[in-house]
Amino acid sequence: MISIFDLFKVGVGPSSSHTVGPMVGANRFAQQAVAFLKANGARWDPSLITIEVELYGSLALTGIGHATDMAILAGLSGCLPATSEPHEISESVKRAREEKTLRLGGEIPIPFVEATDLKWLRNDTMPEHPNAMRFRLVERMSPAHSQGNRVLLEEDYFSTGGGFVYDRAGMKELLQSNAQTVESSSDTVPFPFRSAAELLAMCRSAGLTMEQLIDANEQTKRTPLQISEQLDHLWDVMRKCIDRGCQSSGLLPGSLRVVRRAPKIFQQLTVRFPAKPQCPSDLLLVQNQNHPFTDPLQQLDWVSLFALAVNEENAAGGKVVTAPTNGAAGVIPAVLAYYMLFYPGANREGMYRFLKTAGAIGLLYKRNASLSAAEMGCQGEVGVACSMAAAGLAACMGGTIEQIENAAEIGMEHNLGLTCDPVRGLVQVPCIERNTMGATKAINAARLAVLYGDGQHFVSLDRVIETMRQTGVDMQVKYKETSLGGLAVNVVDC
Ligand code: SF4
Repeated sequence: MISIFDLFKVGVGPSSSHTVGPMVGANRFAQQAVAFLKANGARWDPSLITIEVELYGSLALTGIGHATDMAILAGLSGCLPATSEPHEISESVKRAREEKTLRLGGEIPIPFVEATDLKWLRNDTMPEHPNAMRFRLVERMSPAHSQGNRVLLEEDYFSTGGGFVYDRAGMKELLQSNAQTVESSSDTVPFPFRSAAELLAMCRSAGLTMEQLIDANEQTKRTPLQISEQLDHLWDVMRKCIDRGCQSSGLLPGSLRVVRRAPKIFQQLTVRFPAKPQCPSDLLLVQNQNHPFTDPLQQLDWVSLFALAVNEENAAGGKVVTAPTNGAAGVIPAVLAYYMLFYPGANREGMYRFLKTAGAIGLLYKRNASLSAAEMGCQGEVGVACSMAAAGLAACMGGTIEQIENAAEIGMEHNLGLTCDPVRGLVQVPCIERNTMGATKAINAARLAVLYGDGQHFVSLDRVIETMRQTGVDMQVKYKETSLGGLAVNVVDC
């Protein structure tokens, strides 16, 4: 089984499939290319070596708006989403463009002319997956001629959503395995659940909560301390992202000229606070104070604020937690922050419970459907995040495993058919606001399941996941992260 930490990763915006995945793929190829060149050191003249990149399908169609070009250049230059700061990424890209030179893998300078060496094949799709990229390490016969180039290395990578990346061999194995993740025998865990029904049955027979079951699985790879530290780190990144979003005003990048809304809403929501907080962390780190929340529905405004803040940061290329994707990165932090701010007795243990339970549900979608909008539309992004967040909150509300499964099911059932149609290919409209809807819907789902339900319900989570998968398969390509349909073609240019 894959780990919940394969789902929750630190990444950079704006997209897990179109930014994080391509950066990871480019970085892997750069490492391979550097190893190849070093192994044959004396034979190559670096000034005659270059990289050719081809982007296919959805990556080619919406890659400009999703910063795929930036991700490819940064990855080839040795950057990785989890470890490189946004300013390091933009500096390496700026340098490569100005100097028309890539520092391959951060080590070997080679010529790279983006206009000719990076190709957007908008009419071509690889049969294995709509998000495909091909890299070639090429020796030119002379600096001036592109004819007669010799290909030294070639590899295809597939960005299957949520930052997951497979090379050609891995993709073949994935397709043959009839599941959405490759599971090797070395990945053995005590509770290898493949469906929600198996997850519940294992919890019942072992007498464990979902959180405890995930803990047992994760402890085959990490110590309890490492698990806690990693979860602390994820919450820290989420919280700081909310803070930055609430403090950064101005326009988001791109031709839509979208104005950031979070800072103004934060000011409005805190205007009557006697001790005015500088950022949401001033409230989130000290729980259960008597804040002057006069309007009960203002809690929803805070949830929307948290989601807007994260997704505006994501749209600006900031650091986010892929949860389970970047486009949907605001839903889980918003619902978790809601729990931390408004629930009596909310604490760090509850935060762990939330993320582990949400992770358990996310693994089911990853295994049995997909997190890729290019395959599933937005139901695979915001829909999945809503389902995961509903489960996490239900666990924190003291829900039984049946109520948690019910909450996750409600969270997806009412996102079925949700299309992906970002205007001008930018992860901004409808994406940013859509996260507020996903987050508030998740809270409603958890409340319905835990406060007013007993765990018995009509549609099982497994049925709804399979329905989502079938709906994604049947959905027309123009609604699957291509910007060829929906809002993307109906929003008239001013
Ligand atoms: S519409 Fe949904 S799936 Fe598509 S880019 Fe926006 S958030 Fe992602």
